[in-house]
Amino acid sequence: MSPKVLNTLTRQIEEITPRPGEGKNLSLYTCGPTVYAHAHIGNFRAYVFEDLLQRHLHERGFAVRRVMNLTDVDDKTIRGAHAAGLPLADYTRPFKAAFFEDVKTLRLLPAEAYPEATHPEHIARMIAMIGALIERGHAYQAEDGSVYFRIASFADYGHLAHVDLEGQRPGQRVASDEYDKEAVADFALWKTWVPEDGAVGWESPWGKGRPGWHIECSAMATGLLGETIDIHCGGVDNIFPHHEAEIAQCECAGDGKKPFVRYWMHCAHLMVEGSKMAKSAGNFFTLRDLLDKGWTGREVRYALISVHYRGSLNFTLDGLAAARTALGRLDAWRARLTEAAGTENATESPARTTEEFFAALDDDLNISGALAVLFETLRESNRRMDEGTLTPKQARGLLDWLARVDGVLALEPAAATTIPPEVEELVSGRAAARAAKEWKKSDEIRDQIASLGWLVKDTKDGQKITRHP
Ligand SMILES: [Zn+2]
Repeated sequence: MSPKVLNTLTRQIEEITPRPGEGKNLSLYTCGPTVYAHAHIGNFRAYVFEDLLQRHLHERGFAVRRVMNLTDVDDKTIRGAHAAGLPLADYTRPFKAAFFEDVKTLRLLPAEAYPEATHPEHIARMIAMIGALIERGHAYQAEDGSVYFRIASFADYGHLAHVDLEGQRPGQRVASDEYDKEAVADFALWKTWVPEDGAVGWESPWGKGRPGWHIECSAMATGLLGETIDIHCGGVDNIFPHHEAEIAQCECAGDGKKPFVRYWMHCAHLMVEGSKMAKSAGNFFTLRDLLDKGWTGREVRYALISVHYRGSLNFTLDGLAAARTALGRLDAWRARLTEAAGTENATESPARTTEEFFAALDDDLNISGALAVLFETLRESNRRMDEGTLTPKQARGLLDWLARVDGVLALEPAAATTIPPEVEELVSGRAAARAAKEWKKSDEIRDQIASLGWLVKDTKDGQKITRHP
């Protein structure tokens, strides 16, 4: 059984198959964060959807090579660095580190590579690609010194976004990285240095400057994954102009015979409490904002994963509370099954219908269908445990199935791991501080323990230590 997905390019549901001679290998490129701020939950919706896709492909026996870029030079990062009075690399460094922490918190599988746009090797590749585009007549240096892609030279421009280019005015140019469909125009590949760029700039055959955002992804994607990539994902707001530009650049810089991407997949917008997320509306959340409010990474993951990726997701605090309840039910069920299985090692396969969980995901990642199977299985087996008719073998079989399900959902509670000695030491130090009624010291030690990734809770039986979920 091979998963089927909606390909944005063809608007058709298509079965994902590897290229001939590639065995079960698939390449996957996912547009990563622009490291000018902490990523917000709208960004993470896309990353969680991509993680679900990758995990389900693994379940179906595919080996996935995934690359996710980090945009560490573009209009936004330069603007941010300038405002903060910092060199670009110093400005973006903490946001990169924060992103990787968030990836762990949300249990996203790590990509094989996270190329950074400012790496000299990638800059060299961008310059080479722009050179090839000029040579083939697809790009030109304008009088402002910047190099632009000539969209009139590529008949397929607009196909991905299904933009009608009738009436577009040839020769119109747009220098910024982001613009809307009404402004279809030649876009910048290489932006000539301007004083606002400060120390940011690289030498090129067209003078000092910096790459445009779109060429960064094109160069890193093809540089690391080859001229044709199997699956390319992103949010719907990436379709135009970003992905449209990526196609134009890659297909025109190559021999023109190979498609850049075989399957394009895009996830829909995320709304918060019914409206568009915006700092000005006070409904703008980073993952950190939610953790500070007491929600856990897996609760946020559940809330983001449980709505079909092509449906618009209305993210609400009620939704997070519902995620907490659902996870509580799953945890209680797992504990009950574990008890029912006892020491039984032999398994009896659960009902045939449990395969429907994976079959639902084959159908364009139909998560609602998959979760319905999961909770129906939970209800049915709970009923049988109430009646005392579920055998230990069947309980073991359900636990094995649940482990397989969790390979895709990654919602299991954090494993009970051994507490490291440095944490043990802090915990006993804190017990001493509390015995001496040194509350401030006790709180300080609690924060130190938290910074090591552990939570301490005071109960009537003393301190309880758990791994931060
Ligand atoms: Zn990209």
